[in-house]
Amino acid sequence: MTIVDETTTPPCAYEPDVYLDDLLHSPPARTDLSAADWERLTTKQAAAHRQCAGCPLMVECLYRAVVEMDVSGFVACTTESDRLAIRRRLGIEIHEPTTVAYGAARVGGGPVSHEAVMTARQAYPKDTCHQLADRLGCSTSTIKRHLRRARERKRDDALSPASAPARPSVADVLDVFDELESSRTA
Ligand code: SF4
Repeated sequence: MTIVDETTTPPCAYEPDVYLDDLLHSPPARTDLSAADWERLTTKQAAAHRQCAGCPLMVECLYRAVVEMDVSGFVACTTESDRLAIRRRLGIEIHEPTTVAYGAARVGGGPVSHEAVMTARQAYPKDTCHQLADRLGCSTSTIKRHLRRARERKRDDALSPASAPARPSVADVLDVFDELESSRTA
């Protein structure tokens, strides 16, 4: 018998596919979708956003996803680019992609990791993004996103000073989060 603790089980645990949907956590441009698909996407995103906003784990979840782990997925009302923007404002980076489970949305397997994409890129340097996506069983946009992230990290490493910045507090993260458009649409 499965016992579900309603007080601690977050909403994403019940709908992991929603929170791992490529379109949700890395939304395409409005012009890349039909009106009907855009409507479906915004409705889905608004629902996930409302659930995160009401989740008892929201603050801890946001902090960990911004400061401790570079996870994929729609997490704590944020897309991947939202979290990247918060890190940039805070002057922090996460160098090591996580390979461990993060939150309920990772249970049962999740999207391909940054590490897996970079390993495949090294092993097959002449592959197109489409070929890499076929090898890893993910979308081409996922491959492009991880390769773009690697380029941004490389560029930031070249520009950033040697000393690591201080770890931000929860309040620091929430202050920057409050400035995002995402924090106002729940
Ligand atoms: S992603 Fe985080 S904030 Fe959103 S429902 Fe899951 S645990 Fe809660």
